[in-house]
Amino acid sequence: MALINENYLKLPGSYLFAEIAKRVTKFKDDNPSANIIRLGIGDVTKPLPEAVIKGLHAAVDEMADAKTFRGYGPEQGYAFLIEKIIKTDYETLGVKLDVDEVFVSDGSKSDVGNIQEIFGVDNKVAITDPVYPVYLDTNVMAGRTGQVSGGKFAGVTYLTCNAENNFIPALPEEKADIIYLCYPNNPTGTTLSKQELKKWVDYAKANGSIILYDAAYEAYIQEPGIPHSIYEIEGAKDVAIEFRTFSKNAGFTGTRCAFTVVPKSVMAYTADGSQYPLNKLWNRRQTTKFNGVPYIIQKGAEAVYTTEGQQQIKDLINYYMANAKTIREGLKSIGLDVFGGVNAPYIWLKTPQGYDSWSFFDKLLTDAHIVGTPGAGFGPAGEGYFRLTAFGSQESTKEAIERIKSKLSL
Ligand code: PLP
Repeated sequence: MALINENYLKLPGSYLFAEIAKRVTKFKDDNPSANIIRLGIGDVTKPLPEAVIKGLHAAVDEMADAKTFRGYGPEQGYAFLIEKIIKTDYETLGVKLDVDEVFVSDGSKSDVGNIQEIFGVDNKVAITDPVYPVYLDTNVMAGRTGQVSGGKFAGVTYLTCNAENNFIPALPEEKADIIYLCYPNNPTGTTLSKQELKKWVDYAKANGSIILYDAAYEAYIQEPGIPHSIYEIEGAKDVAIEFRTFSKNAGFTGTRCAFTVVPKSVMAYTADGSQYPLNKLWNRRQTTKFNGVPYIIQKGAEAVYTTEGQQQIKDLINYYMANAKTIREGLKSIGLDVFGGVNAPYIWLKTPQGYDSWSFFDKLLTDAHIVGTPGAGFGPAGEGYFRLTAFGSQESTKEAIERIKSKLSL
């Protein structure tokens, strides 16, 4: 008799986006002529940059010719891409990496979800709250938590991030072995300074902990002085794994390419207390369970690093960040408390007096025909907040803000 993994039953269903879809469908049925604007999803809307399209086309042609055809590639990714990642994304920050410290993958979602496999089941996990749900759910699946109660899983350390602490998580009181940090942050759109991030690196060094650093929105950083990589912090190469993706800087959400950096100096411990390099374990995991990203896709990603590619992704980011500014300033002008949106494509707002996350969702949909994401869906500390994203078109974003200004009766 086959038994299921009971840990899966601890997870609530995909409540957030299913509930949003249900409420939007009902609203549309009741108001068929309403022109709904969606500022809820974290998916990009602009097409792939021209340079990427050129790279993809050329690679397709190579696959048509026996002389240049490629079959299985290296599981870790082709050197032509890894070398460009290191040179452009890290050497410019003064960070030196070896080719075998970068693992190309089909997405940061897979990598941030799979990485926990190389850690023992008894590790104590800390996550910021609110949070990108993948970190928590994958640890629940693996059995690293107890049951959920009052919106929190037993055994997990929740690091509250709210307006009161300026969205800066405090170091955990109880020792944490694995710490997930995401900056610029989804959903709050906030960042950590180098000094703040250094506190985490120092904590990890002092406690033998590992930081799993999700930098999916790194390219959106506009202000100087904000770390683009955790490896800008001294000592981080001993304690941190970093995740990056082409999804949000180059529009690869449907094309799928990302990479994870596991420096060979990052060590965890065996049961007898000796150190073991996580690079070796991740390499073992990837070579066993993953057969690499398609050559064609990696050639598309390589084109991101051409001069034209770099300019085109800058233009894309500027486009979305102009939306972020429109949203941020528009909401502020009607007296709402707004966070994020300066170094990230997410705007996190405090719901007005008298509204929780879901009642504000309904209010925005009913009054202005705009769909956002209730903060409570990202964790208990997200209650009383609401997320809007800058990934729409400039026209619809402007229209959305005009509607909020003129139609939202608070
Ligand atoms: N990490 C964060 C914080 C995200 O918000 C997302 C997607 O929204 C991802 C990772 C997933 O990235 P990918 O498309 O590379 O799987």
